[in-house]
Amino acid sequence: MVKIPKEQRRYCPNCDEHTDQTVKEVTNRSDSPFKKKFRKRQRKIDHGYGSFPYENPAIRSRGRKNPTSEKKDLQFTCNECGKSWKPSEPLRAAKLEIER
Ligand SMILES: [Zn+2]
Repeated sequence: MVKIPKEQRRYCPNCDEHTDQTVKEVTNRSDSPFKKKFRKRQRKIDHGYGSFPYENPAIRSRGRKNPTSEKKDLQFTCNECGKSWKPSEPLRAAKLEIER
């Protein structure tokens, strides 16, 4: 279990300095069906190409165990300029809790 505070003092790329920011977990956001990545995957599933990519996301890695953790979709909102941004390297955890 990874616990992170809701209010954090972090670097804001817009203000170019450290400001108080609020963390929010963005949920239920799926890949846009217009993205090239999504279209390529869908084409392979529809037409068939070997055995990859698997339609079932539970079967992700051949010969290895599937990862139990996942990348969390976190969004930081700056309290001073009101703009939000996402970290380039997302947090990886099995369970995440945002403490208030
Ligand atoms: Zn800011």
